[in-house]
Amino acid sequence: NISENQPVIRQLDDAAINRIAAGEVVERPASAVKELVENAVDAGARRITVEYADGGKTLIRVTDDGCGIAPDDLPLALSRHATSKIDGTDLLNIHTFGFRGEALPSLGAVGRLTITSRAAGQGGAEVTVSGGKMGAVKPAALNSGTVVTLRDLFFATPARLKFMRTDRAEAQTIGDVVKRLAMAEPFVQIVLRDVSGDGAGREVFRADAEQGELFDALHGRLARVLGREFADNSLRIDAEREGLHLTGFAALPTYSRGSAVAQYLFVNGRPVRDKLLTGALRGAYFDFLSRDRHPAAALFLDCDPTLVDVNVHPAKSEVRFRDPGLARGLIVSALRHALANAGHRASTTVAG
Ligand code: ADP
Ligand code: MG
Repeated sequence: NISENQPVIRQLDDAAINRIAAGEVVERPASAVKELVENAVDAGARRITVEYADGGKTLIRVTDDGCGIAPDDLPLALSRHATSKIDGTDLLNIHTFGFRGEALPSLGAVGRLTITSRAAGQGGAEVTVSGGKMGAVKPAALNSGTVVTLRDLFFATPARLKFMRTDRAEAQTIGDVVKRLAMAEPFVQIVLRDVSGDGAGREVFRADAEQGELFDALHGRLARVLGREFADNSLRIDAEREGLHLTGFAALPTYSRGSAVAQYLFVNGRPVRDKLLTGALRGAYFDFLSRDRHPAAALFLDCDPTLVDVNVHPAKSEVRFRDPGLARGLIVSALRHALANAGHRASTTVAG
């Protein structure tokens, strides 16, 4: 009997689609934190507070003073592929962290998500979506900005829940993600608190808004995140080639590490993990460091959005350059130049 064995093709409902998408966008509590903080930055926030409990498994709350969401737009913000950031006509020209409109519906599909928000000239409002089921929009008291509360992450996907590591390990990764984002936004205040238990909470990390020129602000912020020692032992990088602009700080060879952990690359403000950086740094420091030492650096590559494709992966931690050789070449030559100059200055000081 053919009909008994014939598979049935069904259209999945939105809740199922969102749970599947969530598997790509939210791998663990830290990925939820990343999405929510990026949304706050995209909303023009000057102050962002991130709170979590139990490694983010039971609670993640991100509070910002950004532009807020109008009550009528709240259900839209939670629906799939809805975004205020692009109109879909120009995927090559992206200036915001977000554009896929996937984070909020994904988080609402796998956890209990409440958004409380107030846009200028509007009343405050709140909506909850839990395991993909959205409640009604209700009025809520709030001065301005947005509070996103995510409880019980992955309660709706028990298989994923099993893959969570210890609270401590998840908290550590949240810290790493927040610090990485903080490096790229020196003018934004970012505070991270662990509110586990019933105490008042514990401040895990705090970076107040830096003042002044970009380089001074960046230097101050890197001192805050990577430590004074890095800031005091690093060279300012500022170079440009064919529309690619490289800024940041690279450590003196004397401040090298036994592993490659302190290497950070941001492309158009986006933290990216890319072999490009590791390779370029190795090339740049080749004459200055022995094989077993690794340089520390925080580099910011900025270019016209059309020169780089950020649409490679849902979490957007990978990017594709139109000309990877150009990016690599710029990093290598700018760093070699800075290192050679520093060496030259050091020897002339001794001679003089
Ligand atoms: P994306 O960031 O890709 O647009 P999201 O699902 O993360 O998708 O967010 C959907 C929409 O909700 C955003 O385009 C934005 O309009 C709105 N939004 C989300 N978070 C905030 C926030 N913190 N402040 C203001 N608006 C927000
Ligand atoms: Mg987003």
